Amino acid sequence: MYRNTSTPADDNGCGWFHLSPPRDVRPGHSGRTKARWVVLGAGFTGLAAARQLALKFPRDEIVLIEGQQVGFGASGRNSGFAIDLPHDIGAHDYIGDPATARMNLKLNHFAQSMIRTLVAQYGIDCQIRADGKYQAAVE
Ligand SMILES: Cc1cc2nc3c(=O)[nH]c(=O)nc-3n(C[C@H](O)[C@H](O)[C@H](O)COP(=O)(O)OP(=O)(O)OC[C@H]3O[C@@H](n4cnc5c(N)ncnc54)[C@H](O)[C@@H]3O)c2cc1C
Repeated sequence: MYRNTSTPADDNGCGWFHLSPPRDVRPGHSGRTKARWVVLGAGFTGLAAARQLALKFPRDEIVLIEGQQVGFGASGRNSGFAIDLPHDIGAHDYIGDPATARMNLKLNHFAQSMIRTLVAQYGIDCQIRADGKYQAAVE
């Protein structure tokens, strides 16, 4: 049994969140729920995990618990770049081991193509554009 003892509290100053259309907030969870899968947190990670579980185990009940509103945490307030290379391509954990770097790049390309596929499949109006990336040096 999992007992949730702390809840997140992101600040209320996110423009992306307040400028987007209002959401229908789901009623809060109360009492006890028993399910094979419980995913805690409905950011990108939790939503993706819950979605994959639902695809893999369509007969199982999957409970997704969010302590705030969906999209109120980091996932709803990021800059929206889905990059393939890390911000710092000179970082030791990137260039230190070429095999790891190649694996990360492959994973990121896979994620980008998955995003494109889902946006097309569900007709999501999110102004996605393949813009490439400029890498600039300041010193
Ligand atoms: C300003 C900013 C800009 C960024 N820009 C980019 C970018 O351009 N590109 C990029 O790839 N990444 C960017 N990031 C990083 C990216 O947004 C995060 O890595 C990503 O959103 C993390 O997703 P997550 O689902 O792991 O965490 P979160 O989005 O933080 O989701 C975790 C969720 O779990 C909930 N939660 C936590 N604890 C509990 C609990 N005990 N009970 C119930 N619910 C709980 C939280 O309320 C939250 O909604 C940016 C981040 C920030 C803050």
